[in-house]
Parts: sequence; C-alpha cells; structure tokens
Amino acid sequence: IEIAVLRETGPGERRVATVPAVAARLARLGASVTLERDAGLRATFLDQAYQGVALADTAPALMAKADIVLAVQPPSVEAIKAMKPGAVLISFLYGAQNPALVAALRDGKITAFAMERIPRISRAQAMDALSSQAALAGYYAPLLGAVHMPRILPMMTTAVGSLRAATVLVMGLGVAGLSALATAHRLGAITEGYDVRPETAEQAQSLGAKFVDTGIDARGEGGYARELTAEEQAKVREVVSRHIAQADMIVTTAAVPGRRAPILISAEQIAAMKPGAVIVDLGAESGGNCEGTRPGETVTVGHVTILGPLNVPSALAQHASELYAKNVLNLVTLFVKDGAIALDFDDEVIAGTVLTHSGEIRDEGVRKAVE
Ligand code: NAD
Repeated sequence: IEIAVLRETGPGERRVATVPAVAARLARLGASVTLERDAGLRATFLDQAYQGVALADTAPALMAKADIVLAVQPPSVEAIKAMKPGAVLISFLYGAQNPALVAALRDGKITAFAMERIPRISRAQAMDALSSQAALAGYYAPLLGAVHMPRILPMMTTAVGSLRAATVLVMGLGVAGLSALATAHRLGAITEGYDVRPETAEQAQSLGAKFVDTGIDARGEGGYARELTAEEQAKVREVVSRHIAQADMIVTTAAVPGRRAPILISAEQIAAMKPGAVIVDLGAESGGNCEGTRPGETVTVGHVTILGPLNVPSALAQHASELYAKNVLNLVTLFVKDGAIALDFDDEVIAGTVLTHSGEIRDEGVRKAVE
C-alpha cells in the first residue's frame, strides 16, 4: 500500500503528520511512504532525514496514487477530490465546522478518520491526538504568560530582600490544565487549580497545587464536563472571584464538547485583578474563557494583559509532530494487516473515529450540518 504525507498549508501551521522515525515504522508495516516535498521543514524535519521515503512535488500527484493520506489539518476540498475512491484519510476534520469538506469525502467514497473523534478510552490513549497536543499546549501556556509579566514567578532572595513567588491559577483541569499546573510549579510559582469535575482535586494536588473547591459536581458524559446552571454559576463566582483577584497569572482551558467555551472570567472580575496580571486563555480556539479575549490577539484590558493564542501546539511543532505522528501510527497499525487495509467496524475505535465511509456520513450531527 501507498501512504502519502501532505505538506500543511493552513495559516500558521508548522506541524507535519509524520516524522522520520515514524515514517520508517510505517514502511515496516509493508507500506511505501511518499512525502510532499518540504512537508516537515517547518517542524525541523528536513526531507533528507526521511530515509527510504519518496518525495513528490505536488499534492494532487501524491493524492492520486495514495491508499492512505496523512495530514494534521483538514486538507482542501481540491486535494480530497484528487483521492482515489475507497482511499483512507487520517487528519483532524472537525466535520460540523467543515460541511463542504465532509461532502467531498462522502462523494469521493473516502474512509475518513477524524483524529478528534478517537474515543477517550484506555485502549485508545496511544492514539489520542487531542490529549497529546493539549498536553503540549498546556505546558506552553505559563511560558507564554511569563514573558508578558512585569515580575518573576519564583521566590528569589537577593541582597536587598526577597521577592515573593507569583500565584498562578489554572481554571479547567483537563489534559491541558494539568500540564499548565505542572509547568507553573516547575517555574517556582504557587499554584492553584479549579474545575467543575471533583475528581480533578486529587490530580491538582498531586502536582503540588491547591484545589479551589466550589462544591460543584458538573461531571457530564464520557468524562467531560456539562454546562453549569445559572445558580451554579453564581455559586462559583462567589468562591472563585477572590482567587482571580489574587492571581498574578491565570491560565484558562475550560471546554464543553460541541459548545462555545464557557465564560469563566467576567469583565468585572478582570477589573478587580492585580495590576500587571496576565491571563492566558487557551479557550480562545472555541471563543475564549474570558470576557475581552480576542482569539489570536494579545489585548490589554485596564491593567491586565489577556493572551488568546491559537493553535498553540504548532508553536512546538517538533514535539507536537512527533507525538501526533505516533498517535497516527498507532491508529494505522489497528487496520493495516500484512500490508493491506482491513477495516473492522466492530472495533469501537474504528467505528467511533471514522466519519465518512463508502459514501456515508457516520455521525448524525455532522450529517445534518452537511445536508
Ligand atoms: P476539555 O478540553 O473538554 O475541558 C477542559 C477542562 O475544562 C475539563 O477538565 C472540564 O471539566 C473543564 N470545564 C468545563 N467547564 C468548566 C467550567 N465551567 N468551569 C471550570 N472548568 C470547566 O477536557 P480534556 O482535557 O479533553 O479532558 C476531558 C476528560 O477526558 C477528562 O476527564 C480526562 O481525564 C478525560 N480523558 C480521558 C482519556 C482517556 O481515557 N483516553 C484521554 C484524555 C482525556
């Protein structure tokens, strides 16, 4: 079988779907791998590092002969139209937001694996690209915030006295939030964490953080959070406001599947923050966790700086690509047997992740968005 690796063309996207070491392992599955020229360049992987891999100059040429196409971001509709019927695509797809793309996948009879649909079960952890990328984004958030702060994070003893450690509050303790707590702790800050899922208390504490307990339990389906009621929101505001006011840096990461990001910090709460405080809003991608966040921008609101970074994993393209490539390899290993594609829809990972197959859209919500 032929596996093709696309060069990403999305604005600001530096990652690549396969790194040299993983390309070699794909070859060992009995595949011949072709890379679009310079695909790994912006992630620091030069063409010559991909040993035993063929190079193609243009995407359509590459797509036309591929049995499996690997990408990070959804490819263009044109690129998909160049694919063979029955071929496999693996990338992030976000189908509900990309109806034209899903229609092209359906009409082209492409078997499209959407990486954001990998089930959150133990067996699929090694394929879970949302988690691998969120861990990196969370790691990076306090570093981004630190360079915008007019003070340092650790305690420092000097000849003229001691500087106090900064307090970093992380709101939303999923994969990204816990990773952010770990970085802030390593940088010497006093750390606090807050989430609406009570089981995160122990996880935060194991990373040296104090848990801000609001007494709310908003566990939803599949380990995710549900939306809070107005009453719950008022209760949270009461407890959390004091912690917001005392923080030198806040990292927000809250998300509810399929919804706009919840607002965790109001304009009023921002006005009560310390002068010079910084908010790093990782929720910016889905609209932002703060009133005043502008996705993709850094803004000053009163005396507070709010960062709304987009596609944070791309800033760490080398490691982000390495982890993504391994996630993809583990998925491919599930359905490539003896050098041939064998899809087993009784496997819950395959069934859950495939969005289009044989001219069908396999998710009702996405199907409605397309029709
Ligand atoms: P996410 O990106 O969906 O959300 C980030 C965090 O925001 C979550 O912890 C959520 O509880 C929190 N949140 C939502 N609304 C909030 C609000 N109003 N206030 C405060 N916090 C709020 O989360 P994620 O990182 O994708 O992880 C979600 C869950 O999936 C976790 O339970 C995680 O342990 C689990 N998970 C399981 C696997 C696996 O088993 N393979 C892999 C990854 C994650």
